[in-house]
Amino acid sequence: MQTKAYAAATAKAPLAPITIERRDPGPKDIVMDILYCGVCHSDLHTARGEWPGILYPCVPGHEIVGRITAVGKDVTKFKDGDVAAVGCMVDSCRTCNPCEHDLEQYCTGPHGFTGTYNGAAKGGLPNTFGGYSKRIVVDEHFVLRVNHKAEQLAATAPLLCAGITTWSPLKHWNVGPGKKVGIVGIGGLGHMGVKLAHALGAHVVAFTTSASKKQAALDLGADEVVISKDADEMAKHAGSFDFILDTVAASHNLDAFTTLLKLDGALTLVGVPEHPHPSPSVFPLIFGRKSIAGSLIGGIAETQEMLDFCAERGITSDIEMIAMKDIDHAYDRLLKSDVKYRFVIDMATLD
Ligand code: NAP
Ligand code: ZN
Ligand code: ZN
Repeated sequence: MQTKAYAAATAKAPLAPITIERRDPGPKDIVMDILYCGVCHSDLHTARGEWPGILYPCVPGHEIVGRITAVGKDVTKFKDGDVAAVGCMVDSCRTCNPCEHDLEQYCTGPHGFTGTYNGAAKGGLPNTFGGYSKRIVVDEHFVLRVNHKAEQLAATAPLLCAGITTWSPLKHWNVGPGKKVGIVGIGGLGHMGVKLAHALGAHVVAFTTSASKKQAALDLGADEVVISKDADEMAKHAGSFDFILDTVAASHNLDAFTTLLKLDGALTLVGVPEHPHPSPSVFPLIFGRKSIAGSLIGGIAETQEMLDFCAERGITSDIEMIAMKDIDHAYDRLLKSDVKYRFVIDMATLD
């Protein structure tokens, strides 16, 4: 079926309207009219070719909330008219060890997980196309239930990537009451990290390079805010953190944060900058048995758990709604850290 979308034709081209083909729905597929799609920094890295292996045309978008308009005959989780969501994955092998343990994002099958965009598409179609489009066809296993209120749906979309990418490591590293937790980079991911770590009961310190976000980060739920460029402010926190989550989308000095960890503390990286970070110093790691780790989005079951946790507590993303045609301008502002904190595209503007 033909679907209106917005695509980058090359790494250098601004995004522009395109008509794409979606596969005919199979027995386990749902068809969704997309209402809202969040704008992740990964969309920008991908559309502009900052990462290797990008396939064009590229239709980004993996923070999708919409309404189901058709379900295949074997679909059990959803019915016509349901509000639902799609995140960063639309398929995986379902049989490898990680898949069997609800860790589809770490699928070790022959092709790994299938990204919502820039993945291998089914049905003889080219690469997968994401949420900057009017409709999407997805196997129900990779579709999430949304229990947020109708007026919260646009602000729910960013939970599908920014939410789960911060939730998963916070849970894995047991963030909760009595833990001192740092969130580095208060952008789309980071602002969700602050909200979620606060909701989990931790003492939260936000690290930002933007002095203008100081009060805003406190309003998000941070207990303290540190301007990470200020060496004196940083030094006050030396050796004190259980866990630090680094969401920064540009390469930077990691030693500034490993030195803030206490014994057995972990610095977990979720930002994927175009250029590598400078190699970290060993000294702060071995004097304190500290680790530097990475984490990738989250599994489907865990994403549902996070969405339900947020719906119960009224947690959403702080968003700025944009029209589809303004996407390149939004990317340029994202590069200047000029959004509080997530752009969301109103997909009605794609008509
Ligand atoms: P974003 O909204 O642009 O936020 C990144 C934040 O990093 C900025 O708001 C800024 O915060 C800080 N920052 C930017 N440039 C910096 C620099 N040169 N030095 C220090 N801090 C800087 O991006 P996002 O959508 O949250 O995504 C963040 C990164 O995570 C991207 O690389 C994205 O691709 C990646 N990502 C990874 C996963 C995963 O599964 N691991 C999932 C989604 C996204 P301040 O103004 O507060 O300093
Ligand atoms: Zn993302
Ligand atoms: Zn698998």
